[in-house]
Amino acid sequence: MAAAFNEITVRVLARTVVDRQAVREWLDEMGANEFEIPSEETVSDPALLVALAAKQCYMAFQPGLNPNVNKVRKDMVEYLDNVLKQRHGSVLEHAVFSFGVNGCSRVFTGEMNRHRAGVGISERSMRYIRYTNIKFWMPECFRDEEGDTSAILEKKRLSRERLTAQFASQEDMMAFFAEVWKEELAPESTFHAKKVLTSAFRRGIGMGVATGGVWSLNLRALRHVIALRTDEGAEEEIAHVFKKVGKIMLAQVPELFGDFKEVNGVLVPEYWKV
Ligand SMILES: Cc1cc2nc3c(=O)[nH]c(=O)nc-3n(C[C@H](O)[C@H](O)[C@H](O)COP(=O)(O)OP(=O)(O)OC[C@H]3O[C@@H](n4cnc5c(N)ncnc54)[C@H](O)[C@@H]3O)c2cc1C
Repeated sequence: MAAAFNEITVRVLARTVVDRQAVREWLDEMGANEFEIPSEETVSDPALLVALAAKQCYMAFQPGLNPNVNKVRKDMVEYLDNVLKQRHGSVLEHAVFSFGVNGCSRVFTGEMNRHRAGVGISERSMRYIRYTNIKFWMPECFRDEEGDTSAILEKKRLSRERLTAQFASQEDMMAFFAEVWKEELAPESTFHAKKVLTSAFRRGIGMGVATGGVWSLNLRALRHVIALRTDEGAEEEIAHVFKKVGKIMLAQVPELFGDFKEVNGVLVPEYWKV
C-alpha cells in the first residue's frame, strides 16, 4: 500500500462526572443544607466540581455557615469567573478531560509531551507496533489555499509529492526489513526479538509519521496549553490539534473557558496562567 495522507481526529474519551447524590450528602454533613446543587443543564459537571471544591475552602455555600462569610455569589458563572480573575487556579485541577488523538505525528507528541504539570500521557509505541502502512498529516502550509499564486501552488504541489514519496520509500524500507528478518519476525518468534527489531526499523521512519495517543489534562493545564499552543508562534500541527481542543472546551465547559476569544484563529484568554 502506498503511503497516504490522513487527517487528525480529536475525541473526548472521558471527562469528570459529579455524583450529585454524594455531593448532597457531603453538603448536608457540613451543614450546607441551603445550597442548591445546580442541574447539569445549567452548570457542566467539571465546572460544578471546581466550584464545589472552591466554595468548601471558605465554607461559602450559604451565608453564615462560616461566620466570616455573610454573602455569597449565587450565580455559578459569575462565581467561577471570579475564581479565574483571582487566579485561584489550583481548584481547576480537580476536573480532568481525556482526549484520544489519532493521526498526529511525532512532531506533535514531541511538543505535547513537554507539558508535564497536570497531564497524563500514553503515547502510541513505535517500539512495539510495527509500521507497515505509513500515514502522515500533510502540513497546512503545503495545502492549497484560495488566493495562492500559481507559483506558490506549484511549490506546494512539489512539496506534497516529495513528502509522500519520502514516506512511500520508508514503507518500502519497512517491507525490506520484514523480508530480511522474516524468521525472527515469524509468529512463533519471541515478542522480545520482534520488539528489538521493530525498534531498530523505526529509526528510518520520519517524525511526521502518523501515530496517536491518549492525553488527560486537568482544566488548569488545559487552559495553559490551549493558550500557549494556539498562539501564532506555535507549531502548526499542535496548533491545529489545540484549536480543536479549545473549541471542545468552550462548548463543554463554557463556565471555565468562556473567557477565551478567537482572534484571527488564535484562542486568547482574558485570564492568563490561572
Ligand atoms: C512556541 C514554542 C517554542 C518552543 N521551543 C522550544 C525549543 O526550542 N526547545 C525546547 O526545549 N522547548 C521548546 N518549547 C517548549 C517549552 O520550553 C516548554 O517546555 C513547553 O511549552 C512546556 O510548557 P511549560 O514549561 O509551561 O510546562 P507545563 O508542564 O505545561 O507546566 C505548566 C506550568 O507549570 C509550572 N511548572 C511546570 N513544571 C515546573 C517545574 N518543574 N518547576 C516549576 N514550575 C513548573 C510552570 O509555571 C509552567 O508554565 C517551546 C514551546 C513553545 C510554545
